[in-house]
Amino acid sequence: MTSIPRKNTRQVKIGPVTVGGGAPVRIQSMTTTHTRDVDATVDQIQQLTEAGCEIVRVACPTEADARSLGKIKSRIKIPLVADIHFNYRFALIALDEGVDKLRLNPGNIGKKDRTVEIVEKAKKMRVPIRIGVNGGSLEKDLMEKFGPTPEALVESAKRHVAILEELDFHDIIISLKASDVPTMVASYRLASQIFDYPLHLGVTEAGTLLRGSIYNAIGIGTLLQEGIGDTIRVSLTAESVEEIKVGKMILEALGLRKGVRVISCPSCGRAEVDVFKLANEVESRAMAQIKDPMTISVLGCVVNGPGEAHESDFGVTGGKDKGMIYIDGKQRRVVDEAKLVDELFKEIETRRKGPSDPDQNSSPSEKSSSSQIYEQ
Ligand code: SF4
Repeated sequence: MTSIPRKNTRQVKIGPVTVGGGAPVRIQSMTTTHTRDVDATVDQIQQLTEAGCEIVRVACPTEADARSLGKIKSRIKIPLVADIHFNYRFALIALDEGVDKLRLNPGNIGKKDRTVEIVEKAKKMRVPIRIGVNGGSLEKDLMEKFGPTPEALVESAKRHVAILEELDFHDIIISLKASDVPTMVASYRLASQIFDYPLHLGVTEAGTLLRGSIYNAIGIGTLLQEGIGDTIRVSLTAESVEEIKVGKMILEALGLRKGVRVISCPSCGRAEVDVFKLANEVESRAMAQIKDPMTISVLGCVVNGPGEAHESDFGVTGGKDKGMIYIDGKQRRVVDEAKLVDELFKEIETRRKGPSDPDQNSSPSEKSSSSQIYEQ
């Protein structure tokens, strides 16, 4: 796969995780629980971590939420970000509770001395701040001057950045989210010409699982393909874990992350196995069980099956009520359709445990000549 040159940005550390400056593009999400419900929030963060989330953000709309951050942080393994909107006290509490990053727009805090207090404390504690500009909440004068345009979003970001830079604070990450994909893409392109701070990419209010995944993939994917973006948050009206799955797939599609990829055909009149069922089963088991990068191909017949299998670590190709399992492009054995997924995963598990005799897992009846499957 052709590799994409990345725009060089400053490196910012969120706890132990680096963002920008050549670090891998990080995947993040946000919890949907009330943050003050510590058990529920920690449970959700653990699920996100298991799915591959590298940074997690929690909302802090009340003092009780902000005061729960330390307890949450002590029970999770990934950096914790406090999302603060206007209340400067909650930002100070969040810092005292040990958060790894604040999401806060300094221009929204009000009196200057309050902003100074937060920024000085964050600087001392080496806690970065993400400026999160959103197309839905732009300053009135910018809306009047520019309308909801990339220029307005970037101008708003410049104002917030200027406040931090004036206080000699540079651990900054910037996002400029819009629900309209072309506006979002143009805003980040413009921002990447102006700032060298890492960019957090996202399409805001992108929608439900299918629509939102497509909108995010186009918006985030277009920018990543141009080398723009250092961390991503796929925003979906769905379980937060889905955001991580989609984020990982976007990065994998662009070759920015290696993961488990299931290549599957769309099926057609030539298929003699249920390709949809087979591919869905393989994908959900692979996503749940396999952590190592690998490619698994699932094809309905011999037209493209052997060719794709040749390029994959593992493969299955359908025949009449049966399937051929491939390993490293080589035919391994024929299995009844009903047992195909189980047998494929046994092969994967055997491989992960170490090298073995190629015929060790095949019963004599399963060993086949290479053409057996296609002669049914
Ligand atoms: S691999 Fe076979 S079943 Fe799948 S789409 Fe191609 S021709 Fe059809």
